[in-house]
Amino acid sequence: MVVRMRHNRSQTGQRRSHHALVAQKLAVCECGAPRVSHRACAACGRYRGRVVMDFAAHAAAKSARRAKKGDKAQASK
Ligand SMILES: [Zn+2]
Repeated sequence: MVVRMRHNRSQTGQRRSHHALVAQKLAVCECGAPRVSHRACAACGRYRGRVVMDFAAHAAAKSARRAKKGDKAQASK
């Protein structure tokens, strides 16, 4: 016998009444994207109106790296 089996449907339902998932409350960033409160925006990298993560610079650096790597790969061929 398991503890679960000693409960009737009403008791099971009462226990499960607290199991519902709640949707995350999202704030709207000044850039217009939905954003989790107290977190930097994933779209523009801003927090409290200040850019704390420069995604544009990251993307530029990444594309520069890619281009460099691509040039090397083509040169070796
Ligand atoms: Zn934003």
